[in-house]
Amino acid sequence: MSSSTRQTTWLITGASRGIGLELVRQLLENPKNLVIAACRTPEKATALNGLKSGAKGSLHVIRLEVTDFDSVRAVPKAIAPILGESGLDYLVNNAGILIADTPLTIDPEVLLQTLRTNTVAPALLSQVCMPVLDKGKEKKILNISSTLGSIASADDFGAGTTASYSMSKAALNMLTYKQKLERPDIIVITLCPGWVKTDLGGENAPVEQKDSIAGIIKVITSATAGDSGKYLRYNGEAIPW
Ligand code: NDP
Repeated sequence: MSSSTRQTTWLITGASRGIGLELVRQLLENPKNLVIAACRTPEKATALNGLKSGAKGSLHVIRLEVTDFDSVRAVPKAIAPILGESGLDYLVNNAGILIADTPLTIDPEVLLQTLRTNTVAPALLSQVCMPVLDKGKEKKILNISSTLGSIASADDFGAGTTASYSMSKAALNMLTYKQKLERPDIIVITLCPGWVKTDLGGENAPVEQKDSIAGIIKVITSATAGDSGKYLRYNGEAIPW
């Protein structure tokens, strides 16, 4: 297949539920997309596996516990048979955790686990996927962040109960900007999906998954070189750092 006719390839972490699952679902509505959906326990990912029937695009499910760095390093080998000669067009670092704590009640192990999942894993996965991204036609990385990682917005939220989480997302934002500086030829965005109804966002969240994800897909697929390094909302608005 020539590079102009081949499918657009995506790798998405944390695809078993929530934002990752809905992102896979919407991408599979388009026959042009080949989605590699990574999750911790594929045999238990009923909703994800169920997307295979009726999908217009192609779905491949792989096992990935993002805090297991050996398995993160093994991702390029695991996806090589799926990609064949194609590179990877989009890497979406979506898997994330939020464990409530406050600045003065941080359990060091919780902070480390949060950083490991939300910051270190995206850093390592981006690093090891660079060779396949280099072969891709889009060369885009989407880091799923949060407005809770914005220092400029912190007064709006107060001290709150997201200390470790906010720190991990602020660091992810800096990672994004550093990735852009090191590799001006790729397009890397750090993006807040909005406050979305998921297990993490809770049922009182005002944004429906389908609306958040439709916006996310629009933002990342239309992003150009001039957008690289930006911190954006799912509707494309800039978030103050
Ligand atoms: P959910 O809790 O609904 O889903 C989290 C996903 O991440 C699950 O698929 C979970 O897998 C996966 N995951 C967590 N830890 C790991 C791990 N160590 N290895 C592999 N997968 C893992 O959260 P959301 O869908 O709401 O969140 C997705 C992203 O969006 C996160 O990065 C979050 O910070 C961000 N976000 C969400 C907001 C919201 O309002 N919902 C707001 C701002 C940002 P498993 O099923 O195995 O646990």
